[in-house]
Amino acid sequence: MARKLPADHTAPAGDPPDPRPATSRRAFLKTLGAGAATMVALDILETTAAVSGGTAPPPAAATAPPLPDVGEPDLLLRMQADLRRALRKPVHLRRWVMAIDLRRCIGCHACTIACVAENKLPPGIVYRPVLEEEIGTYPNVTRRFLPRPCMQCENPPCVPVCPVGATYRRADGIVAMNYDQCIGCRYCITACPYGARTFDFGHTYTEGTVDAAPAVLGRSGAEGYERATAHEYKQRRERRGQASPIGNVRKCHFCIHRIEAGVLPACVTTCVGRATYFGDASDPDSLVAQVISRPNTMRLKEELGTRPRVYYLL
Ligand code: SF4
Ligand code: SF4
Repeated sequence: MARKLPADHTAPAGDPPDPRPATSRRAFLKTLGAGAATMVALDILETTAAVSGGTAPPPAAATAPPLPDVGEPDLLLRMQADLRRALRKPVHLRRWVMAIDLRRCIGCHACTIACVAENKLPPGIVYRPVLEEEIGTYPNVTRRFLPRPCMQCENPPCVPVCPVGATYRRADGIVAMNYDQCIGCRYCITACPYGARTFDFGHTYTEGTVDAAPAVLGRSGAEGYERATAHEYKQRRERRGQASPIGNVRKCHFCIHRIEAGVLPACVTTCVGRATYFGDASDPDSLVAQVISRPNTMRLKEELGTRPRVYYLL
């Protein structure tokens, strides 16, 4: 689920002394798009400057900063209240965004696994990988981590290329899939600059095992847990035969089925480092709105004009 990134990073001018081995942040982000076929050219320094009004990025923290003092026992409780307040607004007035504090991510992959479990994802489908970079030279080595869900772009390149309108942007900004409409042409996979889309080939975890012959879904090749009903897009879908989403393109959807039930996305509630924020950015009182208003935020590949709704804190 993770992939190694090159180790040739240098700290930006003005940063405090960093105990970690020198490496190139630019090089790191140039490889973050994930997927061999993905055009990856991320530039954290320029992107951060663009988001923060053209100023240079602030010094990177060598250690995780203290959590914001929100006067509550846990950030999740506040975000949960923010979420439920947003649900009382008309859908077109909600602006769902996610913010991920890279200083707090410990690379545990709990979010990745929570997403796989929540959405009953088969082998080869990962909505939220955590990209990794190993930097330095033994014995002075360390790692950097970057979770990468769908960016839920406000100007999503994946949408206009779909010949049948199977992927679309909802009123609340979430880029969604209509599995029943998708013909599996995969144009959208090529169009996404973040490598956020993958194709469901219908594989099962039991393929190749003694219990798996013949390894065909709906027959003895799939264990019961592999046919468990998924609730993506508030639909009930059991993996049987070649039924959708088998043969379709799949991606992160901000856990629509959870947030519309007043529950935060699975990756947010599972984040061990409390590194992931979620909420309605159009609500100035929401935690996520306050977090993304800070100058140390950036978005990936902003130069493409995609206007991602996933922010990173540096
Ligand atoms: S794979 Fe499906 S969603 Fe993607 S472009 Fe083709 S029809 Fe549209
Ligand atoms: S990250 Fe990719 S899949 Fe997600 S909205 Fe943007 S272009 Fe579409």
